[in-house]
Amino acid sequence: MKTLIFLLAPALFAATPSVQDAKKFLDDAEQKLDKLGVEAGRASWVQENFITDDTESLAATTNERVIAEAVRLAKGATKFDKTKLPPDMARKMMLLKIGLTLAAPSDPAESAEVTRLAASLDGAYGKGKYCPDRLAKAEKKCLDIEDITEIMATSTNADELLDAWKGWHSISPPMKDSFARFVELSNKGARELGFKDTGAMWRSKYDMPPDDFAKELDRLWDQVRPLYLSLHAYVRTKLHEKYGDIVPANGPIPAHLLGNIWSQDWSNIYKLIAPKDADPGYDLTAILKQRNTKPLDMVHYGESFFTSLGFAPLPLTFWQRSLFVKPQDREVVCHASAWDIDNVEDLRIKMCINITAEDFSTIHHELGHNFYQRAYDKQPILFRDSANDGFHEAIGDTIALSITPEYLVKLGFISKPPDASKDIGLLLNKALEKIAFLPFGLLIDQWRWKVFSGEITPENYNKAWWDLRLKYQGIAPPVSRTEHDFDPGAKYHVPANVPYTRYFLADILQFQFHRALSQTAGCPGNTNTPLNRCSIYQSKEAGQKLNAMLELGLSKPWQDALYQISGTREMDATAIRDYFAPLQKWLDEQNRGKPVGW
Ligand SMILES: [Zn+2]
Repeated sequence: MKTLIFLLAPALFAATPSVQDAKKFLDDAEQKLDKLGVEAGRASWVQENFITDDTESLAATTNERVIAEAVRLAKGATKFDKTKLPPDMARKMMLLKIGLTLAAPSDPAESAEVTRLAASLDGAYGKGKYCPDRLAKAEKKCLDIEDITEIMATSTNADELLDAWKGWHSISPPMKDSFARFVELSNKGARELGFKDTGAMWRSKYDMPPDDFAKELDRLWDQVRPLYLSLHAYVRTKLHEKYGDIVPANGPIPAHLLGNIWSQDWSNIYKLIAPKDADPGYDLTAILKQRNTKPLDMVHYGESFFTSLGFAPLPLTFWQRSLFVKPQDREVVCHASAWDIDNVEDLRIKMCINITAEDFSTIHHELGHNFYQRAYDKQPILFRDSANDGFHEAIGDTIALSITPEYLVKLGFISKPPDASKDIGLLLNKALEKIAFLPFGLLIDQWRWKVFSGEITPENYNKAWWDLRLKYQGIAPPVSRTEHDFDPGAKYHVPANVPYTRYFLADILQFQFHRALSQTAGCPGNTNTPLNRCSIYQSKEAGQKLNAMLELGLSKPWQDALYQISGTREMDATAIRDYFAPLQKWLDEQNRGKPVGW
C-alpha cells in the first residue's frame, strides 16, 4: 500500500503544472496562433482574390495547419484544468478550449476522415447546381445558387418559383450520409475535449452555462415574437391576395413565395406588399448614380461616418491593398468581407462594389468589422476578437441603422427628410429584412444542437427540420417532403459547419446598440424623434462609448462589453420593439379581423 502511494505521488505532482508553466504555454500558444493566423490570412486573401487550383491548395494547406495547431492547443490547455490561474490566464485557457467549431478526434484515421468530410460537404454545396430538363438543349444547362437567388428575388410566377425551390433542394440529399457521419466524428472530438457533444461546445462560447444560454435565446425570441406574428399575418394576407389559395388564409406560408430560397429575408417582396403612399420620395441608388459616385467614394462615405464619431482614419495600406472593384481578368470571391491580415494595422475589405443603396449600407457594415479589429489591436492575441460572435456582425449593422434620411440630408443627398407619414414604408422594408430573419436565425442551430445531442437522428432529420420551420417561422414546404430529402443541407452553413446563432444575436444586439448610442447622441431626447430616424453621425459621445466597448475585444465576458455601451448586462430585444413600434401599431390595424398565427 505504502509503495503504491509512493509511486503515485510524483505522478500526481507532475500532473498539476505551475502557473509559470501555464504562462509559458500561453505565450507560446499566442505566438504560434499569431504567426499561423497571419500566414493563413495571406493565403486566403490571395486565394479569394485570384482563384486558381494552386491558390486553393495553398490556402487549404495553411488552414489545415491552423486547425491542427488549434486542436493541439485545446488539448494542451486541459492539462492546466487543476492549476489555479489568475483570471486573465484562466480566460485564455478557456478560450483555447472553446475556440474550435470542429474538434477532430485524436485517432489519426478518424481525424483525417472528419476533415475530409468537412471539405467534401463544403465542396458539395459550393458545386451545387440544378440542371432542369427544360435547359437540356440550352447553352447554359444548369442553375447555380446565384441564378436561383435571382429567380427567387425577382420572379412572381408561382410555378417558376416552385421549380427553382425544388431544384435547389435537390442538391442536398447526397450530403445526408456524409453529414450523419460527420456529426458522429465531430462529437467524438468534442467529447475528447470534455464537452457533451459539438452543440454543447458551440454553446459554451457565451460566458454562461450552455443550457442557460439556450434559455436566453428563448427569452429573446419571446420578446420579439409578437412583432414577427403581426408581420407574418400581414404578409400572408397580401400573398393570399396575390397568389390565391396556394397561400392559405390562416396557415403557414409556403416557403417559395417570400423572395428568398430559405425564406430568411423577405425584402424582395416589398413591392408586392407595400402600402400605397409608402414611397419615401427618394431612391438612394438613383441619387448615388446621378451624383456619379465612384466605388472609392462609397468607401470614403463609410470611413467618414466612423471618423465623424472620433475614430482615426483608415491606414494608407487599407486603400492600397483592398479590393473595391470586380476585376475583369480573373475569378475572385465577390462576397463582401472585412480582413485584418496582420492582426494589427493591415485592415482591408474585399468587395465588388456596385453603386447601389444596398452596397452603400454593406460598406458601412464591413468597415464596422475593420474599426472593431483596430480598436482591440492592443489586446493579447487571444483577446483580439469580438465580445461574442454576435458582436462582430452587429457593429457594422448598428452603424448602418444610422443611415437615416436625416443622415442623407447631412451628406447633401436629399434636401429635406420625408415627413413621418413615410415611416411605415421605411420600417416595413426594414422589418422584411430584420424581423423576418429572426426565427430563421434561431432555428438553424436549434436543429443542429439537437442533431449533435442525438435528440434528432438521421431517420428524422428532415421532419425535425420542417417541424422547427413551422414552429418558429410559420413556413411550410411547398411540396411534400420525406426523409429522402435533406433540406437543411441546402443552406450553406449546415454543410459548411458554420454556427448560426451569431446572426440571431447580431440582429438583436444591433438594435440594442443603436438605441443606447442614440440616447447618448441625444436622440430621441426631448425632440420626439422616433428611434428609426435617429442617427449617431457626428456624435463624439456615442463614438467614445462605442470605442470603450470595442477596445475590450474578447478580454472580458460579453456582459461586461455590453455594459459599456448600454449600461445593462442583459441582451434585450425591447429595443427592436421600440424601433418598430409605429409599424407594430400599423400592422395590427391592417390585421384587424384577420387570423394571426398558424
Ligand atoms: Zn459581416
